[in-house]
Amino acid sequence: MAVTHVTGSLPGTNSRALLDRQARSVTRGLSVAHPIFISHATGATVTDVDGNVFLDFTGGIGVMNVGHTRPEVVAAIAASAARLTHSACQVAAYEGYIAVAEKLCALAPIEGDRRALLLSTGAEAVENAVKIARAFTKRAAVLCFEHAFHGRTLLGMSLTGKTVPYKSGFGPFAPEIYRLPYPYAYRQIGMGPWEFERTLQTMIPPRDLAAVIIEPVLGEGGFITPPPAFWPELREFCDRNGIVLILDEVQTGFGRTGTMFACEQLGVMPDLMTVAKSMAAGMPLSGVVGRAEVMDAVPKGGVGGTYGGNPVACAAALAAMEIIEREVVNNDRARTVGTRIRERLLALSSRIPIIGDVRGIGAMLAIELVSDPATREPAAQETAAVVSTARDHGLLLLSAGTYGNVIRLLMPLTIGDDELEEGLSILEGALLRISKPHLTAAAHSLSTS
Ligand code: PMP
Repeated sequence: MAVTHVTGSLPGTNSRALLDRQARSVTRGLSVAHPIFISHATGATVTDVDGNVFLDFTGGIGVMNVGHTRPEVVAAIAASAARLTHSACQVAAYEGYIAVAEKLCALAPIEGDRRALLLSTGAEAVENAVKIARAFTKRAAVLCFEHAFHGRTLLGMSLTGKTVPYKSGFGPFAPEIYRLPYPYAYRQIGMGPWEFERTLQTMIPPRDLAAVIIEPVLGEGGFITPPPAFWPELREFCDRNGIVLILDEVQTGFGRTGTMFACEQLGVMPDLMTVAKSMAAGMPLSGVVGRAEVMDAVPKGGVGGTYGGNPVACAAALAAMEIIEREVVNNDRARTVGTRIRERLLALSSRIPIIGDVRGIGAMLAIELVSDPATREPAAQETAAVVSTARDHGLLLLSAGTYGNVIRLLMPLTIGDDELEEGLSILEGALLRISKPHLTAAAHSLSTS
């Protein structure tokens, strides 16, 4: 039986009333993908304030890999909240912080001694990783990549490679940031040879770079990943020039790609890694984990934050990481989910010409929509229409990509098989409906050629 249930048109009466209140009280600068308000959620479903039930293929932007209100996580949060909600780890610490740091150090695919620092958001993790790299190298400059997303703080948005809506009007940006093309196979951009030293010749001497920061798979950028040969070359470039390699695993981490961290599959070891999102199943917690000698280069008091490594968030993280390890990674759930999604998306792409590309690793999969398969013109309007049509039929989706023409799938990895099929069928229906004019045009051109 279907789990989704949408009655009438959206938003429903109660959501509409909240939208009115939102318009009068919340800044318009905050954009919301779906005009519904959530009342409660469980597993892979969310229920809005009008009683509509949706399958959640967004996972709160890749945060709910273990599913909504997972009982072990909820119990850990409740028990921790009843004992201690805050002390600030710089004032006096608590065991949960140490336990999460130990777990991150144990899980990080980095050789030798490791250390961790806990913070609250992904952007804060990025900020701190760059600070740590600067303290270690005693250099200032940072190399980043096009289409990247590293957060909305000054440094985060400076490192981000998408102008609207993340940067436009918010300058001046942080100085000493350099940017190269991110390898993008579908559009044949930056596919090598990379020759980093030569490419940077007109920008900056490599020995002035403190860090390179890169996402193993672009998150907001549209689930693009470089060809395998890119990674050893990047690693060697960093090694030759004493540059700290920061992998931003904020969206890719914690089982999404099939392994705990995406870099385990890339044959590249970072010096520092940023983590957040699914680590604490919705509680605000992030971290930087990396080589001890790099992490320890910061003078005492140089890093921290009032809420960083909050005890309730740490309790949630310990429960969530245990579930991810056992159910998602060791039990191959992300790979099973990913294989099924890929099969269905590939089958669809052979029937629906607006699906230009099906890509990603493990269960971190996306489709790029194009209005013309020959020119690969991005189909942003059609993408928005697929997202809203799917929502009207009970499926929450998120778009992505610099051109707004990618649909990324970030469902909980604990999703049931039937729920997964139901959600994919809704996606299929929405794609067929929106691509009808394109299908008709393709049939017409076939019949006239
Ligand atoms: N890095 C990456 C790769 C991300 O995907 C995000 C969030 N989408 C961030 C950093 C910023 O995280 P936050 O929104 O928690 O600041």
